Amino acid sequence: MNRFPAALAAATLLAGALAACSDAPTGAAPESGPSLAEQVAALGFRADMIEDHGEYVLVEGDIYLSKAQLRSAGQQSTDPLQPRFQYVTNNLVSNSKIYQIRVDLSGLNSQPGWQNAARDAIAHWSGIASSHVEMVEGTPADITVGTTCTSWNVAAYASFPSGGNPGSTIYVNTCFGYSTTHAQKVHNMVHELGHTIGFRHSNYVQMGESAGVEGANHIWGTPTSGNASGSVMNGGTALNSWAGFAASDVTATQSRYPIPGPGSYSVTNSNGTPLISWAAVSGATSYTVSLITFNTVNGQYQNHWVNPITTTTSTSYLDVDRIYTGVYECTYDWSWGGETQGAWYEYAVQANFPHGSSPVLNSRFYAPIAQPGCVY
Ligand SMILES: [Zn+2]
Repeated sequence: MNRFPAALAAATLLAGALAACSDAPTGAAPESGPSLAEQVAALGFRADMIEDHGEYVLVEGDIYLSKAQLRSAGQQSTDPLQPRFQYVTNNLVSNSKIYQIRVDLSGLNSQPGWQNAARDAIAHWSGIASSHVEMVEGTPADITVGTTCTSWNVAAYASFPSGGNPGSTIYVNTCFGYSTTHAQKVHNMVHELGHTIGFRHSNYVQMGESAGVEGANHIWGTPTSGNASGSVMNGGTALNSWAGFAASDVTATQSRYPIPGPGSYSVTNSNGTPLISWAAVSGATSYTVSLITFNTVNGQYQNHWVNPITTTTSTSYLDVDRIYTGVYECTYDWSWGGETQGAWYEYAVQANFPHGSSPVLNSRFYAPIAQPGCVY
């Protein structure tokens, strides 16, 4: 994470720019590939904050890109408007992985302070309600945390997700030029783990990100980039102390990694009884089936009621308390105050995990159980 208070930022930006200059080709031959800076820019990162470390580069302070990564990205396209790193699909961790991320902290055995901070950070990410993000310490590792000695102004750095997996490495810099408290270490480790699951700096505009990238990283429901006050994913915050997630961090995590429900459903007529079936959800421990009644007046939605029917470990349920009619909506055969009352019906199937359940309204489908005249 990058590191220093704002007062130091300018000096480091200058250093970054000089480093980039020393890397830039001075007289690129026509047959040569894109420069390091161009390759980095093609991925949507700043081209002027590159530190070349031989086999890898650090960009924007604490983001690790291997040279091989840069080369393969360059081969995909040289179009400067290519999808940016932060919103292509390989920047996300898959649903089948995000709730069972294993983090190997044995590489921090020599740094017990950082190791303890990393344990706290794992717990913080796993503690976000209504999010599918769950991390545990263990092996085989999805994320390996180790130490390195690099620039004095970098506390730690991390890699981004690829191939549905979280970024595979986090390095803690034992040559960081400041001593840090536990709360500062926790802040850094929460931040770096955030990079491994695809979060970029919330304030990358303030950090000088190029135009055009701004909209790419915006997650619906969160402040536009730079206005996420207190976000743990703000860059340039290596000396901040952990003070909990900002509301926007929580929203972003819930939005990007919601608890998934079954992706498909069906209702069939089983001898006059509705038979509800749904697709299994990886890792779900049970499913809750509900009936939702949506009330209408003159055909307009008024309100709805959610009534849980059953919780089961099966992927189907025979709704013996209702009759299959093949019709999901109707108007009642009475009116009140001159208005026509009516309703339509839907089932919902939630997937339940030890850390929460998928939202009931995210997994609903029509329930063909309306009785003729809707008289019950
Ligand atoms: Zn960072």
